[in-house]
Amino acid sequence: MSIYTCPNCGKKAFGPATKAMAGRMNSKGKPCQNCGKLCVNGKGATIFNFVFSLIGIIAMLVVYLAQPYSDFLKYYEMPIQASIVVALLVIPRIVFAFCFRLHQSIRIEPTS
Ligand SMILES: [Zn+2]
Repeated sequence: MSIYTCPNCGKKAFGPATKAMAGRMNSKGKPCQNCGKLCVNGKGATIFNFVFSLIGIIAMLVVYLAQPYSDFLKYYEMPIQASIVVALLVIPRIVFAFCFRLHQSIRIEPTS
């Protein structure tokens, strides 16, 4: 079974781009092109994203706290912080595109 297989209908209806856009378990997800059911990146992706965000936040904190003691960081603090933010936004999507299985969206749709 491929990671681009829809967990609902079993068709390979996703690609790296659509999978990257499907988000994590607490997001709305992307509809399957075959059956229309919403799919998200599963538990592994959610855990990865949590750990990755944590590392990013710690890195930002370390740079911020170490900055008064380092001439290098004094000079480059802003670009380093900016690149950490960009990495936090971009890298999980790249990882989602190529790793982790899809999962049915468990978010309950409003019925009204
Ligand atoms: Zn499907």
